Amino acid sequence: MVQRQTRDQRSYQTKVIIVGTGFSGLGMAIRLKQAGIDDFIVLEKAADLGGTWRDNTYPGCACDVPSLMYSFSFEQNPSWSRMFARQGEISDYLQHCADKYRVRDHIHYGVEFTGAEYDEDAGTWTVSTADGAEYVGRALVSGVGALHIPSYPELPGVESFEGEVFHSAEWNHDFDLAGKRVAVIGTGASAIQFVPRIAKKVAQLHLFQRTPPWIQPKPDRPIPGSVQRLFRNVPLVQRAARAALYWVLEARYFAVFNRRLGKIAEHLSKRYIRKAVKDPQLRAAVTPDYAMGCKRILLSSDYYPALNRSNVDVVTSGVAEVRPRSVVTGDGQEHPVDAIIYGTGFHVTDAFDHLSIVGRDGRKLQDAWRNGMEAYLGMTVSGFPNLFFLLGPNTGLGHNSVVFMIESQINYVLSCLRPICRGKLRQIDVRQSVQDSFNSEIQAALTDAVWSAGGCRSWYLDENGVNRTIWPGFTWRYWLRTRKADLADYETTARQSR
Ligand code: NAP
Repeated sequence: MVQRQTRDQRSYQTKVIIVGTGFSGLGMAIRLKQAGIDDFIVLEKAADLGGTWRDNTYPGCACDVPSLMYSFSFEQNPSWSRMFARQGEISDYLQHCADKYRVRDHIHYGVEFTGAEYDEDAGTWTVSTADGAEYVGRALVSGVGALHIPSYPELPGVESFEGEVFHSAEWNHDFDLAGKRVAVIGTGASAIQFVPRIAKKVAQLHLFQRTPPWIQPKPDRPIPGSVQRLFRNVPLVQRAARAALYWVLEARYFAVFNRRLGKIAEHLSKRYIRKAVKDPQLRAAVTPDYAMGCKRILLSSDYYPALNRSNVDVVTSGVAEVRPRSVVTGDGQEHPVDAIIYGTGFHVTDAFDHLSIVGRDGRKLQDAWRNGMEAYLGMTVSGFPNLFFLLGPNTGLGHNSVVFMIESQINYVLSCLRPICRGKLRQIDVRQSVQDSFNSEIQAALTDAVWSAGGCRSWYLDENGVNRTIWPGFTWRYWLRTRKADLADYETTARQSR
C-alpha cells in the first residue's frame, strides 16, 4: 500500500476511500486489487468486517435468497451447507473473501464515517470521521448499504418501561428469554425469522402486527456432501446451477408486474395460510389485504406453525401505551411483559440525512436530495464528482439477489475509477440532464407498479410516497446498462488541465 499518513495529524492520503465492509465495500476492495489498484483504504465503523451479516445475529437469522446466488460470481463457495445460508456461514464467507483476496490490510477498523467534502481545485474528497481522523482520496465509494440504521418506533411511554428492550439488529444475547413474557413489534423479514426460534423458549409471546406480510414456504434444505464435492471438483457444474437459478429468480419478476400472475401467486399463498393456520380468527388476521409484491415477499416454513402455539398471540389492535411492566393495546387491554423486541426494520430513504456530504460549490447532499434521493443508475449524483454509491437509490430488489446488482455496480464504478487512479482524469461528474432523464424514466416505470399501486405502505417509498429504493425491472437490464461507464454521460476534467 502506498498511502501516506502522518500519524500525529491523523491524516491519511490514498487514491480511493471505500466506506463499509459488507458485500459492497468488500467486493469493491477486491475488484480494485484485482485491477492492480492497490492504493485504497476501506473504513469500517465496527471492530470487524461483514456489514449487515456481522450486525444481525438474531436467532434464526438467515438469507432468503439462495446461497448459490447470494455470493460473489468470482468466489462461488462450493461448501454452502444449505440452500439458504444462515448468518454465521455468510459472515464466515465474507471473512474468507477478505483473506483470500488479501484486502484485510486495507481496512481501518473502528473508524466511523461522518461526512466528506469535495475540493474541486485539488480534485479530492476529504472524509471526516467520528474520532477526528481525516482521509483524503481522489475518489470516494459508499458501500454503507441501506439496512444498517435500526428504526425504533415512537411508542408512547416506552421510556418508562423497566424491562429489557432491544432491536433485532442489536440482539442482546446476554438476556435469557427462557420463561419470559415478550412483546415483539413488527412482522417483517427479520421478525418472521426470529419469532419461531424464541416462541419455543418464552413463556408468552405477544406479536404486534401492523400489516401481515405475504409469505411463501421456504424451500430450504441441507446441500448434501456429494453435491458439495461435485461443486468443488467440477466448478462448471456449480456455475451452471447458479446460472439456472438466476433465471428462476429472475422469472419471479413476472409475478410483480403481471397482475394475473400475481393473483395466482396470492392464491397459492392463501392456500398455504389455510393449510398452516388452524384458527379461523388467526387466519383472517395474517391474511394480507394488499397486492402481493407491494412489500417484500417473505419465505418461511416455520412462522405460521409458530403462530399456532398456545403461548403466542397475534395482536392487531396496535400499541396505545407502554407502562413500566406492560404494553397496553388500542382496545385497552394490558399485556404484562418482561421484554420488548423491535423487529421494526431500518431507516432507508433517510439513511444519509445524518451525514454531511458536501460536493462542488459547497452543495450539500441533503439539499440535492431535498425532494428525495436519486442518482444516475443509483450510483452517481450530479455536483458530487468522483463519488459513487453502491446499492444507492432505486437499485434494491425484491425478486433476485442484490449481490448481482452490487457486482454490476462495482464493474461500472471500476470503469470510472481506472482513469481517475491512473491520473488521466481529475474529475468526473454526471450531467444533471442525464441523471434527470434516467430518474424520469424509472419513476415513470414505478408510478403504477405494485409497490405504489398495490395498496400497502412500505419502506420502499419515501415520505412523499415516491419509490426511492427499488429497481423497476429485470436485473439483466441493469447489468446491460452498467457494464461500462459511458463518459459522454459525465462532465470530465483531465488531470493535467489544471
Ligand atoms: P421491515 O421489513 O421493514 O419490517 C418492519 C416491521 O415492523 C413491519 O412489520 C412493520 O409494519 C413493523 N413496524 C415498523 N414500525 C412500526 C411501528 N411504529 N409500529 C408497529 N409496527 C411497526 O424490517 P426487517 O424485518 O428488519 O427487514 C428489513 C429488510 O431487511 C427486509 O425487507 C430485507 O430487505 C432485509 N432482510 C433480509 C433478510 C434476508 O433473508 N435476505 C432477512 C432479514 C431482513 P408495517 O409492515 O405495517 O410497516
